[in-house]
Amino acid sequence: MSKESAALKKGRKGSREISPSLPDYRGYFGEFGGRFVSETLMPALIELESAFKIAWRDPSFRKEFQGMLAEYSGRPTPLYLAEALSRETGGARIWLKREDLNHTGAHKITNAVGQALLARRMGKRRLIAETGAGQHGVATATVAAKLGFSCQIYMGSEDVRRQALNVFRMKLLGAVVSPVDLGGRTLKDAISEALRDWSRSVGETHYLLGTAFGPHPFPLMVRTFQSVIGQEARRQFLKRVGRLPNVLVACVGGGSNAIGLFHPFVSERAVRMFGVEAGGIAIAPGLHAARFAGGSVGVLQGTKTYVLQNGDGQIENTHSVSAGLDYSAVGPELAYYRGTGRIVFDSVGDDEALEAFRMLSRTEGIIPALESSHAVAYAVRLAKTLPRDANILVNLSGRGDKDVMEVSRLLEEKGETL
Ligand SMILES: *Cc1c(COP(=O)(O)O)cnc(C)c1O
Repeated sequence: MSKESAALKKGRKGSREISPSLPDYRGYFGEFGGRFVSETLMPALIELESAFKIAWRDPSFRKEFQGMLAEYSGRPTPLYLAEALSRETGGARIWLKREDLNHTGAHKITNAVGQALLARRMGKRRLIAETGAGQHGVATATVAAKLGFSCQIYMGSEDVRRQALNVFRMKLLGAVVSPVDLGGRTLKDAISEALRDWSRSVGETHYLLGTAFGPHPFPLMVRTFQSVIGQEARRQFLKRVGRLPNVLVACVGGGSNAIGLFHPFVSERAVRMFGVEAGGIAIAPGLHAARFAGGSVGVLQGTKTYVLQNGDGQIENTHSVSAGLDYSAVGPELAYYRGTGRIVFDSVGDDEALEAFRMLSRTEGIIPALESSHAVAYAVRLAKTLPRDANILVNLSGRGDKDVMEVSRLLEEKGETL
């Protein structure tokens, strides 16, 4: 039996307990999650949790959120049947949820809109955020400009150097970009610095965390905002096809686009779900970012989850061709659903992702983000093992404009021409 059909079987039979009502009152999804922070941050997290819960029950807040998504970000994003890609693959039908068509080019803006509206309600005047490749920094700087916040983005100095274009974008949008010269000078160090800033400035500042990660209530809040993806997809699929998709596929960095698509479907036992991590060059320390393949349970940046670490708890280096998947830990809710078997995880390596990047561009005229290319590649793998009338829905989390220079460089390095 192929690895994919084994995985499919596991996805069907392995699902036991399903609890869409998680996290519990302490912020736990089973044994994962929680709130592992210093005492100086505790009051800020408690204030945020209570403000979020009140706002989310308030119809006027929901209306504001939905209104801004519709008029500013361009929701609902389309559901698209990738006919030529499906034909070329020669198996199941592949559909795309077009998150790449959002303002600023990815799903990240949805979370930024939700948290910025909440921060405004809480009377905050300043937004801070961490960013790796710069995509979340740009989304945060964008909503800060739109809603009149001052904005400071923490970014590892190594990333500042590598992502000059996004640094310029953030500055254009009026944000201050602060290079972080600590540790490995990348995303993890930027998150630590943002948390430090927040503990000093919480009276006027909201920390706009970019994915379904970190201490409670961030994983709950980000999932709630991003669930608009799955809610729309569900409605659109029923209207267009008359039944739910058989399979959902999403790439997994911190986990926000994945849990956003999956969550409204978790109680639908017939719908199988696959999370795709970055397999990088090989599943060996330092060469990948597949936390479920090479990691173990630990605590990182406020939450208990799967972490890439060595036997002494030192965080391992990670690698992926896509910056957005290149992180050493994964959101706690996905860790929980992996444990119950409800979501099956696998990885796609750099080369296969690059191949999918080119394949979708050529067949459909859609250049996907390198992150999303991992999900497309996995959907192609699965489609070949499924009947033609099966439906696979892929979350196309972002567009690839940001990646074309890097792909051009990589192809040249390999001596390939287009
Ligand atoms: C940031 C990013 C991701 C990874 O983040 P998640 O929180 O796991 O969704 C995936 N795709 C794109 C396009 C991104 O910008």
